[in-house]
Amino acid sequence: ETQKETLGFQTEVKQLLHLMIHSLYSNKEIFLRELISNASDAEDKLRFAALKDDSLFENEPDLKIRLDYDKEANTVALTDNGIGMSRDDVIQNLGTIARSGTAEFLSQLTGDEKKDSKLIGQFGVGFYSAFIVADRVEVFTRRAGTPIEDGVHWESTGDGEFTIESVERPARGTQIVLHLKPDASEFADGWRLRNLVKKYSDHISFPVVMKAESEDDKEGEAEDETVNEATALWTLPRTEIKEEEYKGFYKHIAHDFEDPLTWSHNKVEGKLDYTSLLYIPARAPFDLYNREAPRGIKLYVQRVFIMDHAEQFLPLYLRFVKGVVDSNDLSLNVSREILQNDSTVENIKTALTKRVLDMLAKLAKKEPEQYQKFWDEFGTVMKEGPAEDFSNREKIGGLLRFASTHTGEPAQNVSLADYIGRMKDGQTKIYYITADNFTAAKSSPHLEIFRKKGVEVLILSDRIDEWMMGYLTEFDGKQLQDVARGELDLGEVETEEDKKHQEEATEAHKGLLERIKTALDDRVQEVRVTNRLTESPACLVVGDYDMGAQMKKIMEAAGQ
Ligand code: ADP
Ligand code: MG
Repeated sequence: ETQKETLGFQTEVKQLLHLMIHSLYSNKEIFLRELISNASDAEDKLRFAALKDDSLFENEPDLKIRLDYDKEANTVALTDNGIGMSRDDVIQNLGTIARSGTAEFLSQLTGDEKKDSKLIGQFGVGFYSAFIVADRVEVFTRRAGTPIEDGVHWESTGDGEFTIESVERPARGTQIVLHLKPDASEFADGWRLRNLVKKYSDHISFPVVMKAESEDDKEGEAEDETVNEATALWTLPRTEIKEEEYKGFYKHIAHDFEDPLTWSHNKVEGKLDYTSLLYIPARAPFDLYNREAPRGIKLYVQRVFIMDHAEQFLPLYLRFVKGVVDSNDLSLNVSREILQNDSTVENIKTALTKRVLDMLAKLAKKEPEQYQKFWDEFGTVMKEGPAEDFSNREKIGGLLRFASTHTGEPAQNVSLADYIGRMKDGQTKIYYITADNFTAAKSSPHLEIFRKKGVEVLILSDRIDEWMMGYLTEFDGKQLQDVARGELDLGEVETEEDKKHQEEATEAHKGLLERIKTALDDRVQEVRVTNRLTESPACLVVGDYDMGAQMKKIMEAAGQ
């Protein structure tokens, strides 16, 4: 009845394992953070499930994670008494990768270890990171609340296959045994392990215990000691938290190798009562544009973990934000359905959105170089903001960055405030041009008059730009004007003389205008004399309320 089965890993797992082992060699130590993170998640899940059914505690409500090592055997073992896994869970969780877009992601990897390690960092390696340090991994587990005979033993050497068999397992939860590679024996060491726990897992919510190190082994069984702080970081006062601790906690929740760009930690009391700790990552995940990609923050209610990826607390255009919200107002048995139309959630969302926008504004002001990094990674997502979040469009407008004729470079680093600071006397509008690409925009005849008058024009060439500008019509009381649209009104920058010249020319060329109009038939609405141009003989202009050229292409591509 304890039949042993041999199964193959899903192709994606094989690929990931292979690449990971080679490219994460210099980041070896992250395996412990990932495994402790899983153990902590499992404890969280048990505590949550036990809210409804406390028999799941099986008379052992003390949630903790144990870390053991054996120098002689060259092993490290991590044991949790969390939710555990059934046989089906094990096959599903430790044999496949469920994230959509994985295959495509893996195909982007180059074989260049340095580049790949960054990419894999964005992907998140999770359980499989065990194989960076171990040439054989064993998992013993039993799902809380199931019979002792339903324990599972999983084993693999990480090269394509794993075995799985039923075993008796009195303790609920999961034990992971790493048989370390000879060149990873440094991890079978109490000092090294303690250090890593402090570094990455100091502020997870559960104690990590180890046997106390004793000089003399003969004194009998060593005592257990807790080696981490084991208090959820966000519950501590800001003044008591070191920068390194904030960064460590970010890596724990985001599974990121890199430090975050910035964060914001706030305790709110009064009408709403919650704590939030929100981070801006330094790098976009591979599936930022994948609709099914998990997004959202971790939700806790009164310090009890409720769910991962609670997407109801931030708008879609801020989906890159990582963090935690811990509410005292929501009920412990809140579900995703309830979150969807709950007024408390709606209020927290409004507050967190403001928090994130303010955090970004602060970063832009105090650390413009860091902000530029943020913009380069997440700018196109921020551009969804004006349409999705009309009430914050002024704030979002302040965070946008554009290429501009001022720099003449494709880099998007000019803010609307920068632009306004350089506006000509008498100029009332913010001018921009949209095109398929930067070069096309920059050489557009529409820019001729602006060049002549020395008026700056923002250059927009991202796919989303024209659509965004449909929602961003004003900033700081100034209208945003597409230079290729309608009558061009340059305000007082245009002299009386310019206007007179245009009127005279229209009069003088009346006949010619008629002839062109007739020749082009109904392909154009109107033919006008313009002072937009200084070199080109003619240009096309879109009506004030017509669809722009870029938008037209998008609609056509969509079959409309
Ligand atoms: P992630 O944690 O991002 O989901 P991992 O690769 O780290 O990805 O883990 C895959 C899955 O395996 C987890 O989602 C969880 O369902 C399961 N798992 C891993 N470790 C444990 C554990 N210690 N206890 C229970 N389930 C676990
Ligand atoms: Mg994990």
